[in-house]
This record gives sequence, C-alpha cells and structure tokens, in this order.
Amino acid sequence: MAECLPSTSKIFGEPGTSSQQPNASSTLGMDISALTDKATKSAQRRPAMTDYADAIGSLEEELASEGLRRRVPWDSLSIGSDVPGLHDVKDLLEGDDASDLVSEDDGVGCPLPSTPVEQGLLECEIAEVLKAGVLMDEIDLGALAHNAVGQAEEFVRKVMASWKVCHFHHLPKWLQDNDFLKTGHRPPLNSFKACFSSIFRVHTETGNIWTHLLGCVMFIGIAAYFLSTPAMELPPWDKAVFGVFFAGAITCLGLSFAYHTVHCHSELVGKLFSKLDYCGIAMLIIGSFVPWLYYSFYCQFSAKLIYLSVVIVLGISSIVVSMWDRFGEPKYRPVRAGVFMGFGLSGVVPAFHYAISEGWFKALSQASLGWLILMGCLYILGAMFYALRVPERFFPGKCDIWFQSHQIFHVLVIAAAFVHYHGISEMAMYRMTIGECAAQNPAMAF
Ligand SMILES: [Zn+2]
Repeated sequence: MAECLPSTSKIFGEPGTSSQQPNASSTLGMDISALTDKATKSAQRRPAMTDYADAIGSLEEELASEGLRRRVPWDSLSIGSDVPGLHDVKDLLEGDDASDLVSEDDGVGCPLPSTPVEQGLLECEIAEVLKAGVLMDEIDLGALAHNAVGQAEEFVRKVMASWKVCHFHHLPKWLQDNDFLKTGHRPPLNSFKACFSSIFRVHTETGNIWTHLLGCVMFIGIAAYFLSTPAMELPPWDKAVFGVFFAGAITCLGLSFAYHTVHCHSELVGKLFSKLDYCGIAMLIIGSFVPWLYYSFYCQFSAKLIYLSVVIVLGISSIVVSMWDRFGEPKYRPVRAGVFMGFGLSGVVPAFHYAISEGWFKALSQASLGWLILMGCLYILGAMFYALRVPERFFPGKCDIWFQSHQIFHVLVIAAAFVHYHGISEMAMYRMTIGECAAQNPAMAF
C-alpha cells in the first residue's frame, strides 16, 4: 500500500473535490473518469458509504496516523519533484507531439526512454482504481478492471516505446544542422524501427520526409505507366533514355526520403545516408541531362557523345566530392549548393550550342528550351532557399515544423523534375512526329 500512495490523489483529486475531477480524466482517459464518477454516485446512493470524499478523507487520516506523508495532485508537482520519472509520465499522459512542442522549453533536454519506475507507478495507479472499486462495492467491477488494465497496457506500451522531440541545443553535435530551427528535433533514436515509425510523428523532418516520399511514389507510378507502353508506340531507345531519367528521379527522391528518415539513428548512419542523399542529387542531374541531350543532338552523334561524356564525368566528380566526410557539415552548405548548381548550370553550354547552331526559335519550339530554362530556375531557386535558409532565418523558431527552407527546396526539386519530364516528353513527341534523321546523316542517331 505504501508504495502506491502517490497514486490515489492523482487519480481521484484532492479529498473534498471528488465531484470535479480534472486530474482523473487527464490521467487515465475519459473511461476511467466516467467510471469514477459512476462509482462516486454509487457510493453516494449507499448508506454504508454515504460520502465518497469522507471515505477518501478517512483513509488519508488513517494513513497519516501511521506516519505516511500526504499526497499532492499532478498539477502541484513540479519538475525536479522527488517522484522519479513523474514529469515524463505526466507529459506523455497529457498530450501528443504538438503539445510537447508547445510545452518544451530551453531547460528541458531530450528525455530518456521511460523507466521501470514509471511502469510500477502505473501499475499502482491501476491497483488503486481497482481497490477504490472494491471499497465502494461497485457492481461493475469486472468491466472497470478490464478497462483499466487495457488502458494501462496501452499506455505503458506507449510510454516504453516513446521519445520526445527536443530543443536544438540538446541535440548531439552531429545532429545540429540548422540552428534557426529551435524546437521539435528528434533525438538520436538508435533504431531503424523507431526512425521509420517517426514518419508518422510531427517533428522538424516530417515535411522533408513526406515531400520526397510522395514525390518518389509519384515518379514510380509515372515510370511504370510510361515504360509499360507497347514497343510499337515507343521504341526501345526512347524507353531507355526516359528510363535513365526516371531512375535518376526515383533514386534521388528515394535516397532523400531515406536520409531524412534515418539520419537521427546514429552518427555513422547519419553520415552514410547524407552521402547517399548527395549522390542521389547527382544522379537526378545526370538523369535529367541524358534524355535532353539525346533528343537535342539526335542527329549530331559527336556533339551528343561529347556532352554525355562531360555530364557523366561531372556527375561522377560530384559523387566523389559528396563522399568527402566534411562535405556534409553545416558550414559547407553553400559549397554543396554551389557544386550541384554548377553541375546543373553546365547545361547552359549545350543549350547555347543548340540555340546558336539551330536558331533560338527552333531551340524554344523543338528542344523545349523554355521548359529547360524553367527547370533551371526552379533548381536555382530551391538551391538558394537551401543555402540561405530562408524563411527560418527571418523567423527563428517559427518554421520548426512547416515552411522551413529545406521543405521548400524539396518541393521545388519535385516541381523541377516534373517540368523536365514534360519538356523531354514534348521533345520525344516532336522526334516521333518528324521521323528519323535526314538520309545524309543516317548513322548519327544511336
Ligand atoms: Zn533533403
């Protein structure tokens, strides 16, 4: 009995306030509260136990006479109370992630997983509920016990498997990336299962994860539809160059999704997946160049070969640079943006080549130069958001969960990929309309 003492008043409230029991509902949910109300009314109807508050009061007096301390309700307990783990249990009882974000402050670090002490406390609370039911000779004791135990089991599961978002300053050094995002960070989780479960919780990476997960799924769907077109309608070479583009887009978005999901696992996993994320960007750029160069220089074999070779060399160089351990550090953010922007902007050279040799009108109408320019603008805009960390730079702490620069960058990358898909689709249609190269250049196509 003594070890369960802190529980009764937390469940039923202070003696004398039993008709209004805000702590009961916030502790074990509305079912327990309703049952407690029912029990109280039942007690009031019975001559043998006319006043529930009296019963609790007399119980407390009896305990006090035995030298046991009086208990205090949830709300009067403060952080640093002598009840171990109580603060964490209270937080978990009171709300979800959103309330965690609101209540979190600079003084609270990333909480550790729940301890067996908390589980013991909960079991005591349930025992108290059951004992109270026995005291009141409650007829529906079976249902009460079933409900209480069920809720306790669910709650203990939640507590044991849970973690709380934390402040930037409480992150380990290797997780500190963007100090304009103040709260809502995941702590190191050290478990892939926990990382993937975190997809369904609200934190600084939720938007980043879902933007590229949905983008990846969309491109998988489009690729499956496009590549399943009968060979009569779409020749194998066209399928192959579009396949390179789809592979680049799906790889980029998929690796980005994976990186944002697991980078809080541990330092080693975080570094590995950040490198894979950068490799994915290089793959997307390579994949975007291939079909555009293929259709633009369809009948100019040498130019096509040279530009494709240059793109592959630049792509491999970007991947090699991405493998550099320090490339992922926050201070190299502008360098990262510069490397990939420079790689993407190298497309200006073949675009000018085409426009000068074929004329600007043809470049715009047949080589989808307009779509290419729009795609370039979207990538550059995205890279600038990424490098400058706008808008969170101007509203520190206000974009922790939504509308942060990285999410905007992600959305612009997806938009750019769709624009490019539209552009190369038009180029393919044009090529199919005008037919193969002129007779004097029969060998210039692949
Ligand atoms: Zn990202």
